[in-house]
Amino acid sequence: MNGLKTLRSVDPFSNERMDEELKLCSICGNIATQKACFDVGDSARIVERYCDTCVKSVKFE
Ligand SMILES: [Zn+2]
Repeated sequence: MNGLKTLRSVDPFSNERMDEELKLCSICGNIATQKACFDVGDSARIVERYCDTCVKSVKFE
């Protein structure tokens, strides 16, 4: 929509590793289950994490 971020991939990831902090959804703050990679220009890439519900709105924007 704003053209600044281009979604490259969405992959499920596990929060089961006990030695790491739980990753939370960037939108609603629930436990995240999906991670999305975005291209943001200049060869830069960012990763955002979302729950199952919010990742749908990311995909279809
Ligand atoms: Zn969410």
